[in-house]
Amino acid sequence: MHTQEELKALHEKWSRDCICELKKTATQPVPGDGNPNATIVFVGEAPGKNEDIEGRPFVGAAGKFLAEMLDTIGMKREDIYITNIVKYRPPNNRDPEPSEKEACAPWLYEELNLIAPKLIVFLGRHSMNDFFPDLKISDTHGKMIHKKFKRINTEYFLPLYHPAAALYNGGMRETLIEDFKKIPLVLKKIE
Ligand code: URA
Repeated sequence: MHTQEELKALHEKWSRDCICELKKTATQPVPGDGNPNATIVFVGEAPGKNEDIEGRPFVGAAGKFLAEMLDTIGMKREDIYITNIVKYRPPNNRDPEPSEKEACAPWLYEELNLIAPKLIVFLGRHSMNDFFPDLKISDTHGKMIHKKFKRINTEYFLPLYHPAAALYNGGMRETLIEDFKKIPLVLKKIE
């Protein structure tokens, strides 16, 4: 069991020690947020404008859509943990640079290992490609992957389309809603 205090200490340490260049332009860090004993961790790409202002991940339109999808599988945001590969907003929401991802990686690994979820759900290709550089999200969305990594304890992964990308694309939106419903089945399989 882990506590909010342990998570808070981890985030305070990395907010101070993280060497990401985006610190210079972002308003503040956006650490992961949620249940420190979550079974599922969702991993997005990087904070956007609203997240940069509030200091919390997925508080904008994509976060609202995510909350709606969680509701369809009987879960709430408080049940899960949600974070990003990169903890600072890239200017004008550009894609994070490899050096920025690298600088934020130890923070991500440490939070993933503290929570030690059964399942990591990638939100979008950027987060999936950080762990599986050769996979294509169009082929792998909604399909569970089993792999052991040296740096993290979690062995099961589920790539999904990013809710921000799916929000205004009808076909992708339907696919994401359908893929999301597989989460309880995937969890059952793992357990
Ligand atoms: N998109 C992301 O990838 N992360 C956020 O926190 C918000 C939007």
